[in-house]
Amino acid sequence: MGEVSLIDVSKRFVLQVGNETQTVQALSRVSFTVRDSEIVSLIGPSGCGKTTALRIAMGLELASSGRVTVDGREVKGCGHDRGMVFQHAELLPWLTAIENVMFGLEMKGMRGAELRSTAERYLDLVGLGASKNRRPHQLSGGMQQRVGIARALAIDPKVLLMDEPFGALDAQTRETMQEELLQIHGRTGKTILFVTHDLDEAVLIADRIVIMREGRIQEILHVPLPRPRGDLGVARGTREFAETRYHVWKALHAAPGTSSVH
Ligand code: ADP
Repeated sequence: MGEVSLIDVSKRFVLQVGNETQTVQALSRVSFTVRDSEIVSLIGPSGCGKTTALRIAMGLELASSGRVTVDGREVKGCGHDRGMVFQHAELLPWLTAIENVMFGLEMKGMRGAELRSTAERYLDLVGLGASKNRRPHQLSGGMQQRVGIARALAIDPKVLLMDEPFGALDAQTRETMQEELLQIHGRTGKTILFVTHDLDEAVLIADRIVIMREGRIQEILHVPLPRPRGDLGVARGTREFAETRYHVWKALHAAPGTSSVH
């Protein structure tokens, strides 16, 4: 099982700017669930609260009100039931790829032979078995992101939280990574909440899309593309892709205040 819910989550940041106190309402009563083995994309314009929602789900940030549950149990703070992948893998530069993955496992308390074999297994899963002894500067951006994904998956979280993980990659590498993520999802069945501001990416990878605007959910919609999606170039050519993409595009360009939740 691996179901994560945000229930009525609001977040207000209070800032001290010079002598003035300013408040930013980053999230207003946001509720949605990512079901077991589902991939949900969270999309919306910059500043609409996507990263804040993800950080609260991870426990890196506290909600001002509302709660987060994993499999029905309220979570407070970070835990090994959730793994996070950031836009930049933020690997430790003095450690090799495998040592970076092992580091995360050691934090979880794993020791001995199991440590190396588990790290190897997850580097194989992301296609990096042959590069396990390279240091981050000897890996391309895409390869570094794969190490980041292996590091997050290795702790065997129930839910993977991904914050624009392919946002810094070139278009071709990005598409390869999207296909690889879907293959990994097919093999592991992980529940994934995926933040992106890329419309195509949101549609291609997700079962459902949560569209956000100004800290609120504007709409939640189902993506009618079948799984497995295989070659994403083929998925892009389908009527379902075009229609869903157009629907999301329209929602993102709609006047504020118009919303519907399916
Ligand atoms: P997105 O990921 O959609 O770009 P964010 O979640 O990063 O949006 O930000 C939502 C709003 O909250 C923005 O107005 C942003 O400036 C504000 N915000 C985010 N983090 C902080 C913080 N640590 N302190 C103050 N304001 C913040």
